[in-house]
Amino acid sequence: MLKVNAERLNQRLAFLSQFGSRPDGGVTRYALSAEEKAATDTVAGWMAEAGLEVRRDAVGNLFGRLAGKRQGPAVLTGSHLDSVPNGGNYDGPAGVLCALEAVAAMKEQGIVPALPIEVVSFIGEEGSRFAWGLLGSSFLAGEFPVAQIGELKDRSGVTLADALRSYGANPEAARTAKVEPGAYKAYVEVHIEQSGLLEARGLPVGIVSGIAGMCQLTGVIRGRAEHAGACPMELRRDPMPAAAEVVLEVERAARESGPSTRATVGFVQARPGAANVIPESVELSFDIRDLDAERRDACVERVSSYFRAVCERRGLSGEMVLQHTSTPIRCDDGVVGVMRDAAAVVGVEPFELASGAVHDGANVAAVCPVGMIFLRSRDGLSHAPGEFTSVEDVGVGCQLLGETLVRLAGA
Ligand SMILES: [Zn+2]
Repeated sequence: MLKVNAERLNQRLAFLSQFGSRPDGGVTRYALSAEEKAATDTVAGWMAEAGLEVRRDAVGNLFGRLAGKRQGPAVLTGSHLDSVPNGGNYDGPAGVLCALEAVAAMKEQGIVPALPIEVVSFIGEEGSRFAWGLLGSSFLAGEFPVAQIGELKDRSGVTLADALRSYGANPEAARTAKVEPGAYKAYVEVHIEQSGLLEARGLPVGIVSGIAGMCQLTGVIRGRAEHAGACPMELRRDPMPAAAEVVLEVERAARESGPSTRATVGFVQARPGAANVIPESVELSFDIRDLDAERRDACVERVSSYFRAVCERRGLSGEMVLQHTSTPIRCDDGVVGVMRDAAAVVGVEPFELASGAVHDGANVAAVCPVGMIFLRSRDGLSHAPGEFTSVEDVGVGCQLLGETLVRLAGA
């Protein structure tokens, strides 16, 4: 059996946490930031040290390749190194470093796979800087509308093209980051679980059955700014109570849709934003997800029509704009089968669970079959400074990944 070095893997996880570290122990490592670059450069160094062939594509995705006995489509494995604002040390890096450790261990133990294995770190998975998550994998899968590369802006007005340029990538050649369907044999990602299911069942790892599809929208409700003290209640055109009604409808719509629907308003901004001024406008974000695309779309439609009705009833104007969608995917039966075999060798229960969170695999599924392994996360926590997965659990996940890769790539 492949022997992975869980200690080395965990030391590296701790080392990466310095990039974008915050006093509360969390990290803020935005897409295409200096912090993401520093973390990625560090991993590139470890890839080279492990004897992998290191390269980056035109948008800055990092690859480290272990040659196989023969040419052919490589098995791809990895995750991302960026984080949400004030995130944790495991969401993303755990997957990149499990992949690197599994491949480094193979190399050290003289295991040469039949097909090549490539470790990847995708840029900008989180969508916290640009309103476009899974950025790196969307270029790889050809899902990103390259013509909009100079138009998509972060909140401070920097375009994606400029951000790529200052990252050292080459936005003019962004199209070359796309690979053809079949370019890879399979994609396998390790990620921390983002709910408490594994912890509740007392299991170190789980096999993912599918990934929910998300729909992200923004909405603006416009009224009239006036003096908070002078303007009588019945004469106001205040967008804030309308926004509040919409927020409550988002919660109701998701609750009544089904157990796998999730809907969130995570961003609200009133303008001008002063205690003694009735807002002129309120901007909201909507994030609606489901494992079932039709159910998700029905929820989006319900929220949109409620939004329009509230604006009309209150004499306000407003619009909702679709920013981004991703299609729900089922993990590949073949890859899941290989993982179940690998789980038997590693000695863990092949427990299957769905992913409510979206991952790069949702894009990579357009290129090749996809599978995912979840690691038990303390209190099911993610996107928070308190993210924690034990050394032992990271080790078991890496072991399961390694055995999966050996089987997928062949001996
Ligand atoms: Zn992640």
